[in-house]
Amino acid sequence: MSLLEIRNLKKYFPIGEGLFSRGKEMVKAVDDVTLAVRDGETLGLVGESGCGKSTLGRTILRLIEPTAGEVIFQGKNLLSMSQRELRDMRREMQIIFQDPYASLNPRMRVGDIVKGKAKRQRVMELLHQVGLREEHYDRYPHEFSGGQRQRIGIARALAVSPKFIVCDEPVSSLDVSIQAQIINLLQELQEKMHLTYLFISHDLRVVEHISHRVAIMYLGKVVEIADSETIYRDAKHPYTRALLSAVPMPDISLKKERVVLQGDVPSPVNPPSGCTFHPRCAYREAICDQTEPPLDFSADGHGVSCHVFGPIKRA
Ligand code: SF4
Repeated sequence: MSLLEIRNLKKYFPIGEGLFSRGKEMVKAVDDVTLAVRDGETLGLVGESGCGKSTLGRTILRLIEPTAGEVIFQGKNLLSMSQRELRDMRREMQIIFQDPYASLNPRMRVGDIVKGKAKRQRVMELLHQVGLREEHYDRYPHEFSGGQRQRIGIARALAVSPKFIVCDEPVSSLDVSIQAQIINLLQELQEKMHLTYLFISHDLRVVEHISHRVAIMYLGKVVEIADSETIYRDAKHPYTRALLSAVPMPDISLKKERVVLQGDVPSPVNPPSGCTFHPRCAYREAICDQTEPPLDFSADGHGVSCHVFGPIKRA
């Protein structure tokens, strides 16, 4: 069952305003994304920097206003809610940021950061749940390591007892050993509190460990989505396969031949015609620069947006 459904969501940013504005040009950061996040799952959202994954996470929460589309959470469309309804709904939907230090007020004590409207006893429980101690209540963020600061960020998100959390690159700024601790903590909390996560990362290795399903984003669009095992063993989209080929695999039998992507990521202002990946794709056919491939699904729920490798061949 879906907790959250995103339908045809778009976020376009106009480029410049005033004297040097470039007319009606838009950066298409999120371009017609349709996705469902199932109750109790972790959906990993992966892509290179600038692909729109963080904008998508923030647009879902209406921290950024969308250009078009629908976000249905527990059966209600967030985009048609009043500010008051949205405030109430926000208690159910939280975010954990990449840089725990920048997201914590340096002048506030940890207890007050976490507290919100919670009572001291509740804050103590939350600190305990995220692996901090009672004596941390009266300390300031600068007295903590990066991993501990991320624990504070997690406790703050949990204080309002949310159902859904956008985890926006929550371990990217941490050492590898600390990354594993935070990911394990998020998994434990998910089980205990029946949480649902959208876990955003540029790192397929990190996402593999925590995600039940994985969606791959390229230039504002989802190009492939499947359960984790399928993505890591049987990815279809040439972009996903290129990303995977760069990930170190502990199991040598799974090691894929390295695929080097041609060229740079194109500008999201003037994305390429047809399949936006076609200028970098070694498998492109005549149809690829003419017609945009839809995200087609096979019976097992594996979605691929590709004329050649998708479940419906059009090339
Ligand atoms: Fe490559 Fe064509 Fe598939 Fe796009 S649609 S990924 S260009 S084969």
